Amino acid sequence: MGIELSDITKIYQMGDTPVAALAGVTLKIREGEFTAIMGPSGSGKSTLMNILGCLDRPTSGSYLLDGQEVSSLTDDELALTRNKKIGFVFQNFNLLPRMSAIDNVALPLVYAGVGVKERQKRAAAALAAVGLEHRMNHLPNELSGGQRQRVAIARALVNEPSIIMADEPTGALDTKSGNEVMEIFQSLNSCGRTIILVTHEPDIAAYARRVIHVRDGRIVRDTERDD
Ligand code: ADP
Ligand code: ADP
Repeated sequence: MGIELSDITKIYQMGDTPVAALAGVTLKIREGEFTAIMGPSGSGKSTLMNILGCLDRPTSGSYLLDGQEVSSLTDDELALTRNKKIGFVFQNFNLLPRMSAIDNVALPLVYAGVGVKERQKRAAAALAAVGLEHRMNHLPNELSGGQRQRVAIARALVNEPSIIMADEPTGALDTKSGNEVMEIFQSLNSCGRTIILVTHEPDIAAYARRVIHVRDGRIVRDTERDD
């Protein structure tokens, strides 16, 4: 189980010129790994995350997610797989400003057709898991940046996905709040969740056990800490 990419390419057409955002990426991520993806701007990190997250499809190559070939899925099946297996965390939190913390967290359950009582219960539990049970009824603008990102993490968790993908999750945070957010990812990982993180910051990547460096659409370095 886990993630297995074989010779993935992604070509964007810029007028008459093809641009290879990914130029043959082969990569295995086992279940329960904590992996950081690093690389300069334009190296292909977002493209790789979009493909890993089933938000986009590769131009060629194979992507097996828990043994299932992603490229053979219909768009509806792809969306279903994404909602079931993957939780997303973004740099700018992407919370709805007029909704309380608990309603933001419950939103994925609305889409999943879960009843209102069960939604409230599960959203409250997810907020408790990130230490925000006392801020459930606050609006995003009544929370600090670090607290907003923790709400966003609770929202990513509420469907109980096996994989959490975070794109620059500390990019909008000060060092202390950023470290608190990374400690939450670490504890989620120690409970068995796969964490895939994109970051520019070596101090943040240091929370991951494995660091993959991307350059010009290729993996140029892949190191694992053994501890
Ligand atoms: P990173 O996230 O590392 O900054 P991206 O994955 O965003 O890199 O981009 C990789 C390369 O692909 C860049 O050259 C970028 O300009 C190009 N690219 C990304 N998305 C598109 C797109 N939708 N259309 C055209 N080119 C794109
Ligand atoms: P990041 O800050 O994560 O590296 P980018 O600024 O590279 O993101 O890209 C932001 C979005 O724009 C991404 O979804 C990417 O696919 C798209 N994009 C990047 N480069 C291009 C491009 N040259 N043409 C069209 N879309 C692009």
